[in-house]
Amino acid sequence: MDTAALVAAVRDGELRLHELEDRADADAAAEARRRLLAEETGADLETVGAYAFDAADAESNIENAVGAAQVPMGVVGPVAIDGGAVDGERYLPLATTEGALVASVNRGCAAIGAAGGATARVLQSAMTRAPVFRVADVGEAGAVAAWVRDSFETLAAAAEATTSHGELREVTPYVVGDSVFLRFAYDTKDAMGMNMATIATEAAAEVVERETPAELVALSGNLCSDKKPAAVNSVEGRGRTVAADVEIPGDIVEDYFGTTPAAIVEANTRKNLVGSAKAGSLGFNAHAANTVAAAFLATGQDMAQVVEGANAITTAEVRDGGPASGASGASPDAETSGGALYASVTLASLEVGTVGGGTALPTQAEALEVVGVGGGGDPAGSNADALAEVIAAAALGGELSLLGALAADNLAGAHEELGR
Ligand code: NAP
Repeated sequence: MDTAALVAAVRDGELRLHELEDRADADAAAEARRRLLAEETGADLETVGAYAFDAADAESNIENAVGAAQVPMGVVGPVAIDGGAVDGERYLPLATTEGALVASVNRGCAAIGAAGGATARVLQSAMTRAPVFRVADVGEAGAVAAWVRDSFETLAAAAEATTSHGELREVTPYVVGDSVFLRFAYDTKDAMGMNMATIATEAAAEVVERETPAELVALSGNLCSDKKPAAVNSVEGRGRTVAADVEIPGDIVEDYFGTTPAAIVEANTRKNLVGSAKAGSLGFNAHAANTVAAAFLATGQDMAQVVEGANAITTAEVRDGGPASGASGASPDAETSGGALYASVTLASLEVGTVGGGTALPTQAEALEVVGVGGGGDPAGSNADALAEVIAAAALGGELSLLGALAADNLAGAHEELGR
């Protein structure tokens, strides 16, 4: 069927919008939807339709496809990283519509590079799924929780039978009255792992139902917690828990940010720590979500998980001759101490993968190749670990640059200079 005939079939009620692929290939179906939308809304979808991949390759990623949302992509780096999975210089593509963001993160990365590079480590890899079960009362809840604690091997065998990569690491029971939540945590290797963890948990939940009086109510009971701001992810972690830090000599701080280590420490303390505490924030950082979101968009991660990716704490202190640490770094003595700036970012719940999800889409796969982490790693998990470390180092660069701009009182000036 040609485009006109496909459009007519939908208009006549012979086909529903989502059934176009039954009569045409993926590209032709998308073209028919664009034609329909253009006729009904008056929107010009020429650019939306000017995508460079085969729509059939995206069929597992999108329904009712009309084309592609093209977002500008820039790059930061190279930034030198001494990591658990990365050793050397890496670039990181960032996709964003926020002018000045790439320049800012890049400035921070350049300062990190001038200081000899960042250290980064993945501290935990634990994708979680937490089904909720109904029990009769708290007595039964206690018994189910005890059975779960005693039956890890049984649950792991059931869960791991569904995957050749995933490994069950922990099952933590939480009881609220007659509800029992079991938070399953998996090492999902190079996959972000949400599908993998869900399928594995479904198999384990069947065992719980068979062996105990608990009845499954929902495979996700929100204690996971996926795509919602939640303290459990900040405290226990989800996906990769990853940290990056750097020590930057005072003269390099001055060169790159036009300010002192002590001024950056004060900005961090009053803004990221005191301000975030007063705000009741989960993230104690300046704008980690900016780097995380732009990196996620460029590399095919699940964008909604930026919610968890923003769970980051930024610390800063003056070292080497400066005051001991923390808020005291803001003291006048530190201004003249010539001390170095130590800064760190710890992202509690960075959910990233280099296989699965959107990572195989052509643009996103190319971006992963730029980072040097396309596909499965050797050993499995090392590519996703490396991606997490690179994002953490870039997020540290972004934190340093924004704190530096605030400390030097030139944030508005930087945006004006770049015309935004
Ligand atoms: P996936 O594409 O569903 O699964 C990853 C696949 O990659 C697995 O089949 C795994 O095989 C395979 N694999 C090959 N090499 C691997 C390696 N080196 N390391 C790990 N796995 C390897 O992706 P996912 O990461 O589990 O889930 C991501 C998707 O879930 C995204 O599209 C996201 O939007 C979506 N999502 C789902 C839910 C949900 O509740 N289901 C919630 C949020 C997001 P084996 O398992 O056989 O080993």
